[in-house]
Amino acid sequence: MRMIFIGPPGAGKGTQAARLVERYAIPHISTGDMFRAAVAAGTPLGKQADAHMRDGRLVPDEVTIGLVMERIGQDDAQGGFMLDGFPRTVPQAEALDRALSAAGLQLDVVLVLEVPDDLIVDRITGRRSDPETGEIYHVTFNPPPPSIAGRVIQRRDDTEEACRRRLAGFHSQTAPIVPFYEAKGIVRRVDGVGAPDEVTTRITAALTGS
Ligand code: ADP
Ligand code: ADP
Repeated sequence: MRMIFIGPPGAGKGTQAARLVERYAIPHISTGDMFRAAVAAGTPLGKQADAHMRDGRLVPDEVTIGLVMERIGQDDAQGGFMLDGFPRTVPQAEALDRALSAAGLQLDVVLVLEVPDDLIVDRITGRRSDPETGEIYHVTFNPPPPSIAGRVIQRRDDTEEACRRRLAGFHSQTAPIVPFYEAKGIVRRVDGVGAPDEVTTRITAALTGS
């Protein structure tokens, strides 16, 4: 199964992707996670991405496309993958399409997780994560257990200002890629409002066609 997950920042892509990859036994490839790891490790890639990410702006396409093409060429992605956070621009979508076509492959599903803008800021500013496991929490909607609460961290781009910039970027640069996939008939839209378990049930239904 080759699928991509599209949705505004804070829609719940990471939360849901973690559940889906277990079910389908495919790697969860999150460009945001890859860039954050590169920044933390101080690699040349991290140095290129750092300032863009901090301000809630996209990392340039040529950097991002190279990173993803290399990742999906690795052994564990040969049987499928779940791309989360990529493609985010039309040139990224076109580059993915070209690379897959050249290998005689195609995407199976594009999941579009829909959450209205007015819910996004609360989800983002309350987001926390466990640096040891990567588990995603929310101060109100999914609080970490007491044994973990002392060590959770907040992303530095999860401020209201950076969130609003990412949301604007989603509407201007990412939403326009959906028609590109609609033309291929592989888009499944899922309502992302409600408890995470309800959203998982909707996604499963959308994927199985039931
Ligand atoms: P969110 O979970 O809020 O949607 P991500 O973790 O996916 O955010 O991305 C965090 C940041 O990493 C983005 O604001 C951007 O700077 C960078 N980034 C991630 N994916 C891409 C991409 N496909 N193209 C360009 N920049 C990206
Ligand atoms: P994305 O990867 O799309 O940026 P995340 O999965 O990181 O989104 O979720 C953003 C925040 O919203 C996290 O704090 C997460 O715990 C919370 N969250 C995820 N799904 C839901 C949901 N269905 N209802 C309420 N909060 C949610």
